[in-house]
Amino acid sequence: MKTDKTVRLDLSRKEMQDFGYKVVDAIVDHFETQDQKLPVAIASRKEIDALFCEEAPENPMAADDVLKFVLENVMTNSNIMTHPKSYAFVPGPSNYISVMSDTLATGFNIFAGGWVGSPAAAGVEINTLNWMLKLFNFQVKKGGGIFTSGGSMANLTALATARKVKCGDDFSKAIIYLSDQAHSSNIKAINILGFKKEQVRIIPTDMEFKFSINKLKNAIAKDKIEGFQPFCMIASSGTTNTGTVDPLEELSRICKKENIWLHVDGAYGAAAILSKNGKKLLKGIEKADSLTVDPHKWLFQPYEIGCLLVQNHKWLSGTFTEKPVYLRDIEGNQSEINFYDHGIELTRHFRALKFYMSIKTFGLQAFRKAIDYSIELAEEVEAELRQSNKWEVISPATLAIINFRYNTVEEKLSEKKLDEINQKISAKMMASGEALLVTTILQGQVVLRMCLINPRTTIEDVKNTLALCEMFALE
Ligand SMILES: *Cc1c(COP(=O)(O)O)cnc(C)c1O
Repeated sequence: MKTDKTVRLDLSRKEMQDFGYKVVDAIVDHFETQDQKLPVAIASRKEIDALFCEEAPENPMAADDVLKFVLENVMTNSNIMTHPKSYAFVPGPSNYISVMSDTLATGFNIFAGGWVGSPAAAGVEINTLNWMLKLFNFQVKKGGGIFTSGGSMANLTALATARKVKCGDDFSKAIIYLSDQAHSSNIKAINILGFKKEQVRIIPTDMEFKFSINKLKNAIAKDKIEGFQPFCMIASSGTTNTGTVDPLEELSRICKKENIWLHVDGAYGAAAILSKNGKKLLKGIEKADSLTVDPHKWLFQPYEIGCLLVQNHKWLSGTFTEKPVYLRDIEGNQSEINFYDHGIELTRHFRALKFYMSIKTFGLQAFRKAIDYSIELAEEVEAELRQSNKWEVISPATLAIINFRYNTVEEKLSEKKLDEINQKISAKMMASGEALLVTTILQGQVVLRMCLINPRTTIEDVKNTLALCEMFALE
């Protein structure tokens, strides 16, 4: 018996090509015109439901019509994270080579879970991870890692590994330290892993938003006296708020002395290792036991790809290896890595491919230049803000992030009024759609935050945005 074409979910060669070329054309059009579009999409639940709420159709529809509907209603109702004026959160500048590489990985539906699924996928992942290990001065032979969906999964994988290595099966007395500027995904991971609130120490930061070392030392000493087991510290190399790098050298010394696992969350900023200035700021990162990097941020990859690096690959296999009977035939030997034994997922998208192909295509030098450019752009923006009497720099340009607020010298305004004005600037900017610019809170003040990692953002883009901000402030 042979099924017909529709039952096999097949298309003819011509249909596949026609549809594929249309998709490619739509993506290329977007790449060429995105900078002229408005980056912000705002829609209510009601509006979105009106577009998409329908029963799953029993009957087919022309692929072209489905595509047309999606291009008109889905793509237009999404923020453009690759836009030069997307300053909020952490933008994802992306790149076309990786977009197409991802299409290849999906097109061939490569199973990147284990060696037998695709020896080449494992090989490309091993090799690409080795590039990363080398960049961060981790030991390439002994070290290991894994690509994940993002930084959140990398942090979760790291903390599960740290717990297994340092605590074995009993973590009832284990204590984790992180600063009040650490990313929320770490707290999420801690909760998922089943730690109690009493096992988490959130250490205040100093005026520069860095781990306050004295408070940290006091907390560790107190925990030891009380019979707890300090086991893990989460440092940030580039906090999401301000780009601040914790004092890694000092923290690693404390960790070594106290037998504490040092996890560095570099999801935002670790990519800066590629630039000269960034490398200086990140000194000590090579001493981490585990490190999260997020290639879908400042390494210009489209979503999703995160990365975890560890100093000893056996820590991962020791944490995640299970040997179910249905996988017994694909276990392979020691050197043939099954990445399902190094992390949480079994079936895995071949994420390494886009990273591999884009680095090969552009060369590391292009990445270095793009990162240098962003760091310098943020410094230029800082200088621009400082020479104006309307703006106050709250946190200086650090790893391409700058925080500032409208605070004109022409008028003495209360803190409450300043908060209101800056909130209003962001709200009006978002409503206008002209720039993706939101606020954060630093030391109790509402401030505007720009994360300038898009290499297509120019100083003119930023100046235009600031001029608009000034106009909104006066409205
Ligand atoms: C973005 C970010 C994360 C989370 O990464 P996702 O890829 O969004 O899951 C974790 N830590 C820091 C410091 C980040 O900036």
